[in-house]
Amino acid sequence: MTRIDPTLSPPPDAETRRGVAPVICYPTETLPQPDLALYRAARAGARRAGSVTVPPRDARHIHVPAGHILRIESVEGPQVGDLNLFNAADLSERFYSGKTRALHGTHVTTGDRLWSSFPTLRPIATVIADSLGWYGIDAYGGSVHDVIGTRCDPYTGRLLGGSDYHHCCHSNLTRALADATGMTLAKAEPHIHDVLNVFMCTGFTRDTGQYFMKASPVRPGDHIELFAEIDLLALLSACPGGDCGSEHSSDTAPCHPLLMEVLAPEEGAPAGWTSPEPNPYDRSHGR
Ligand SMILES: [Zn+2]
Repeated sequence: MTRIDPTLSPPPDAETRRGVAPVICYPTETLPQPDLALYRAARAGARRAGSVTVPPRDARHIHVPAGHILRIESVEGPQVGDLNLFNAADLSERFYSGKTRALHGTHVTTGDRLWSSFPTLRPIATVIADSLGWYGIDAYGGSVHDVIGTRCDPYTGRLLGGSDYHHCCHSNLTRALADATGMTLAKAEPHIHDVLNVFMCTGFTRDTGQYFMKASPVRPGDHIELFAEIDLLALLSACPGGDCGSEHSSDTAPCHPLLMEVLAPEEGAPAGWTSPEPNPYDRSHGR
């Protein structure tokens, strides 16, 4: 597959047009920067306030009070996790993968925020630690903790000709939300949204622009820590793709559990920290 239409002859200035330098869509200099020193000081004295082990090819939920820390850790073997985050008091406010990508790039690491949906559009979590922060962008253009991908799901499986597979992340997250809230599966499913692909190593091919994945560099003990800026309900699926080095949407790949822990700072929320307000746009939309 190529991106070039062979039936067209390029204009004489094609190379000049291609040579125009890009500009960043959303320069982030004006974004309020997280005070990582403050968060790290809170983290230093934090104690475990709760934990749940996510079984392979399944999902679990945990509540993370505002000012606490959600730690996701690889245990036993390389494993990718698909994370959904909600405002625990209002499920309509949820993680917005696309805007997070627009603001921070295709992958997130320490210092990046996870943003919520319209109309609140505020940071609902801040990455305060990432043991894979050494990875950067590899020779293939791959990086870790992807906000490109959506989540593996049974509908795309059907579309591409596969059989019905019920332990895709979408279905796992749907069951986990139903368990967390008492909702039926039918009521829970529409709340499931595009994920943060924790530990997943992905990119786009240079020649065809296709989304690729490769075996995650994550190893047992690796972790990412998210500071909860609001009260969060977190759902995590241990993807049936395992390390996502070969395939997903099947029982073929070796899969491992993931650990979710909630850490409570010693002194309660960090001194001087307050939960971000919803976006101040007045919502008049020109009327
Ligand atoms: Zn998955």
